[in-house]
Amino acid sequence: MTYSDAFRVEPGSEVQLEKIDAGFKPEGLKRKEGEREFGRKVGRLRELQHQLYAEDKHSLLIVLQGRDAAGKDGTIRHVFGPLNPQGCRVASFKVPSKLEVSHDFLWRCHIAAPARGQVGIFNRSHYEDVLVVRVHDLVPEATWSKRFDHINNFEALLHDKGTTVLKFYLHIDRDEQLERFGMRISDPARNWKISDADYSERPYWDQYTEAFEDALSRCSTENAPWFVIPANRKWFRNLAIASIVVDSMEKLNMKYPEPSVDMDEIRRKYHQAENAG
Ligand code: ADP
Repeated sequence: MTYSDAFRVEPGSEVQLEKIDAGFKPEGLKRKEGEREFGRKVGRLRELQHQLYAEDKHSLLIVLQGRDAAGKDGTIRHVFGPLNPQGCRVASFKVPSKLEVSHDFLWRCHIAAPARGQVGIFNRSHYEDVLVVRVHDLVPEATWSKRFDHINNFEALLHDKGTTVLKFYLHIDRDEQLERFGMRISDPARNWKISDADYSERPYWDQYTEAFEDALSRCSTENAPWFVIPANRKWFRNLAIASIVVDSMEKLNMKYPEPSVDMDEIRRKYHQAENAG
């Protein structure tokens, strides 16, 4: 079974996060071997991105969501860092600005969606509007509850325009989160990452679980699937995500475009130039 099959949320199914082991890795797979496999996947990912860019027909949107310290930044660095920056853009979604809240909740995400030939990575996303917004009652339920349909329609629109939409929920458990907060305190190079929100959000763990489960269950569709990635082990998280992205991009059957010039003619000119020195 591929990681794509193992971790995809089947459309219409009910996700129960407590039942999914955040520390999962395939039996017998050692870290060293997993990292070597990851290296190969990233190499393939780079080739596929090159084709995506050259073909200029499809685009790829990666959505990353997870609790604080789940590893969104690390995933971007490790999995997508090796891509060609000319064809890749990361958009991070924070508390909306005055301008952003004066528009509909999808507006800021739509303008950040990848153009043809491009990879777009959402570090947080339009899903915040059914997560933090719901947990903290930032808008009435009557408003956020309509957003699942809006989101599904929005993602269907992106898909119809040729965008492959892949959404990853980085699944860590409570102990792992606390351990990562501890590392942020003890490592001076990570102190800057600590925010009050880390600690003020932790008591809402169960409310977030409910909100995530609803988003994952209601918005995993054939054309814009959610994947729940066991993310306690960073190396396995990277391997699983890289593998899933590669699988999906392989399915596009991309081809380099035909040259826009007469190649025989160009070869003739090249040889003439070569002979002339
Ligand atoms: P990050 O944790 O992503 O590295 P920050 O520490 O700046 O970056 O956190 C961004 C904050 O913005 C998060 O607490 C997130 O929940 C919040 N946020 C994002 N989108 C929204 C939104 N639509 N409404 C309210 N808060 C949001």
